[in-house]
Amino acid sequence: MNHDALIVGAGFAGAVAARRLAEEGGRRVLVLERRSHVGGNAYDCLDAAGVLIHQYGPHIFHTNDRRVFDYLSRFTKWRRYQHEVIADLPKDGPGEAGGRLTFPVPFNLDSLRAAFGEEEGERLGKKLLAAYPAQSQVTILELRQDPDPEIAAIAGYVYEHVFVHYTMKQWGQTPEEIDPATTARVPVRLSRDARYFQDAYQGMPLEGYTPMFESMLDHPGITVELGTDALDRLTLADGGIELDGRPFAGPTIYTGQADELFGYRFGPLPYRTLDFRFETMPRDFFQTHGTVNYTVDEDFTRITEFKRLTGQEKPGVTTIMKEYSKAHTGAEGEIPYYAIINERNSALYARYAAQAARYPGLHLLGRLAEYRYYNMDAIVARALALTDSLL
Ligand code: FAD
Ligand code: UDP
Repeated sequence: MNHDALIVGAGFAGAVAARRLAEEGGRRVLVLERRSHVGGNAYDCLDAAGVLIHQYGPHIFHTNDRRVFDYLSRFTKWRRYQHEVIADLPKDGPGEAGGRLTFPVPFNLDSLRAAFGEEEGERLGKKLLAAYPAQSQVTILELRQDPDPEIAAIAGYVYEHVFVHYTMKQWGQTPEEIDPATTARVPVRLSRDARYFQDAYQGMPLEGYTPMFESMLDHPGITVELGTDALDRLTLADGGIELDGRPFAGPTIYTGQADELFGYRFGPLPYRTLDFRFETMPRDFFQTHGTVNYTVDEDFTRITEFKRLTGQEKPGVTTIMKEYSKAHTGAEGEIPYYAIINERNSALYARYAAQAARYPGLHLLGRLAEYRYYNMDAIVARALALTDSLL
């Protein structure tokens, strides 16, 4: 079949773009995906014990964008789910003798009581509310600037017990050294709302992410080739884009790494990668919440228990996953999960983006191709906007 649109990658960016170009644009779309499956990092599957797991880290869908939610809802029903996370840390005091402390993350008025005791926590909570009467939340970096000594002490506590060690594990840098938008994702809540996200639409695809992707890509105008590295088929020649050695005039939407597309000619873009360690246990449940963040000790950042997210009913067995973060070295099989956003890296990315701009039919789309820290809904919104302009 002759194709007149090419898409590299079958994650959210690629799948949404493919569906729209085929269905609404009447195009014959070729999707090339390097992995053996669709879904990108949102891919889920049953493990050997029959537990539905997220192969590339826990994915919880949340958005305030009605258009995004409506678009995806064509391809899946939803399980109502509001993600809650707790911090698990050693109680202050010498050694292990003190035991463990847990409280909600984002740190909220209940966390304050858990950390400072009922009465003192209550009093400090009132003080915080009085200091920020018009806000429902405040970022840790803002709170640390507060001149009031008692509020500064709360900020110091939260910084030390929630942010600094976790951020060091995740990024190898302190909260001051990383993009402030990153820690702002997890604010200090001036309420008792224990939900991790407050978006209007939240949930999990009822049958899982992978069936949602399969449904999206199931269209007569779409051909998906799995296990295919597009860089073996695509050439950015002086005269324009070539597919399989022939000039290709249709739109080309590339959702992989921008540096890789151009042979790393300006040097590699820095990323963090993750090691995921899965453990399956013969018990109903391992922990009380979908995700538990180890904010002070342990080498991993968090433990997720999939049954708590997916609602899968499977007595007598459960699978958990620990996440270990480290620098991406480009070694075989390592996946670049997080762009490290700072001025220097953004400037390096801009050089690659400028190369891409020389090809009018080439569009960089997605978390990798745009070198951004996008949630799923943001990528879907970007894919809808790009395809609006192409349709
Ligand atoms: P990807 O999912 O990375 O898809 C890109 C695809 O392109 C991949 O399948 C890749 O194999 C393919 N590809 C790349 N290069 C080539 C090539 N040369 N040839 C062929 N194929 C190629 N978002 C949320 O909203 N909620 C969450 O709870 C959440 N949790 C997350 C947890 C973790 C640990 C991580 C890392 C991310 C999380 N995200 C979450 C973000 C979410 O994963 C992304 O927003 C989303 O996957 C981005 O989709 P994408 O299509 O841009 O990229
Ligand atoms: N963070 C933290 N402690 C926590 C949770 C988050 O320090 O308990 C910081 C950390 O720097 C992290 C960032 O906030 O990288 C964003 O957290 P989020 O849970 O949004 O990260 P993601 O789910 O994208 O990995």
